[in-house]
Amino acid sequence: MNFESVIGLEVHVQLNTNTKIFCSCSTNFGDEPNTNVCPVCLGMPGVLPVLNKKVVEYTIKAGLALNCNIQEKSVFARKNYFYPDLPKNYQVSQFELPICFGGYVDIEVDGNKKRIGITRIHMEEDAGKLIHGENLGSPNSSYVDYNRTGTPLIEIVSEPDMRSSEEAKRYLENLKLIIEYTGISDCSMEKGSLRCDANISVRPMGQKEFGTKVEVKNMNSFKNVQKAIDYEIKRQISEIESGNLIIQETRLWDPEKGVTIAMRSKEESHDYRYFPDPDLVPVIISLRDIENIKLTMPDMPDVVRDKLSNVYNLPEYDVEVLSSSKPIYDFFEATATLCNNTKAISNWIQTEILRVMNEKGVGIMDVGITPSQLAELIQLIDSSVISVKIAKDVFDDVIISGKSPKQIVDEKGLTQIADLSLLEAVVKKVIENSPKEVERYKAGETKLIGFFVGQIMKETKGKANPKLVNEILGKLLN
Ligand code: ADP
Ligand code: MG
Ligand code: ZN
Repeated sequence: MNFESVIGLEVHVQLNTNTKIFCSCSTNFGDEPNTNVCPVCLGMPGVLPVLNKKVVEYTIKAGLALNCNIQEKSVFARKNYFYPDLPKNYQVSQFELPICFGGYVDIEVDGNKKRIGITRIHMEEDAGKLIHGENLGSPNSSYVDYNRTGTPLIEIVSEPDMRSSEEAKRYLENLKLIIEYTGISDCSMEKGSLRCDANISVRPMGQKEFGTKVEVKNMNSFKNVQKAIDYEIKRQISEIESGNLIIQETRLWDPEKGVTIAMRSKEESHDYRYFPDPDLVPVIISLRDIENIKLTMPDMPDVVRDKLSNVYNLPEYDVEVLSSSKPIYDFFEATATLCNNTKAISNWIQTEILRVMNEKGVGIMDVGITPSQLAELIQLIDSSVISVKIAKDVFDDVIISGKSPKQIVDEKGLTQIADLSLLEAVVKKVIENSPKEVERYKAGETKLIGFFVGQIMKETKGKANPKLVNEILGKLLN
């Protein structure tokens, strides 16, 4: 029997506001445990939450970027459960009336375009973090850090529209890129600011009803999401083929063993006893609010791609590389406002800058060269002050010393020699010193031209203007 898989994804995105969703505690990552806490986020009795306006604004941005309807009225609800990382014993979330409904993300797999529906986006608070003692040398205890408690999250729930792990991966990639472009989150799976749960079921080809779904958690990279989905599809098919029923449950992905493991039977929403939070008034959003937020929206990836190709006249490959990350595009654009040789900017980003990013394991903003320094460097080449070869050394120097390209060129006397009589003298000297090579050259060994250029560059410490050198050499040798 042939089976078809059905996949829906729930993605949690941590918003990068400075403070938490219902109090003014800092959301800073990596601080000493339990230093960013107050009576509100510790769930003390009698305290009142106050909604952070930025959270609403950021969620609307996500909703607009993902083509959702923004609801005029949305309501916070309490999701009740007990766990040590949740001091109130309920999580404030949204249930019946979330802030956004009905969006989509377009994907392309093997040349086929497909639209993946988004059911809803809602706002909620994050829980704290449990740290188990094995990692701290006390295997019998567990610790809890409430710094993360109350950090704002949005949950983006997709329709069960995906039919393969490849489609799921593309959906995630596009979703992440779009959110990254809105600037509301750093979307780092490693830091846990983007988390994905996958719902997976299979059904016989041609069957209309969905099969029973299993939810898989604990995947910390897109690769693992894809692997977990593939594993789960195979497992479910083999269960069905051996005559077993699929149980609706939550499973954990074990990246080391490459398997999913049953964790608990799936809870139903009624298990959570959802009810509207009486401490928080409904969120009312006017059309004017939405219009104002639209004005602050940066360009989304499709608009950026269009700009790169039609305004900056870059080839398709460059467009893909530069639009693949918001910080890279921002860096490109900032440089392009200072220098109109956009192809050169693109080349420098794709070669030297990406190389340093990989070597140092840093983002483009931490490479050590600013857009204005790169623009200056390119202008030095374009105005024939230095050669491309020297420019690469200057680039490395900028990164080490932090000095501007001009300053480095001045201090080290790297200005290209474009003085005709000076260059002619050097060329003459090289020719005089290499009689054998001149003979061979004249006998037809024209590739020796490279030897002469090399000698001239050696004499001038790489500063001779290559175009002039070639002209003079040609003239004098022939
Ligand atoms: P629950 O109430 O169990 O959380 P939801 O209806 O909210 O279920 O759906 C959660 C996620 O599971 C959504 O992303 C949805 O697209 C997906 N989903 C729902 N039914 C199925 C199914 N039969 N197979 C795969 N995914 C599904
Ligand atoms: Mg759900
Ligand atoms: Zn607090």
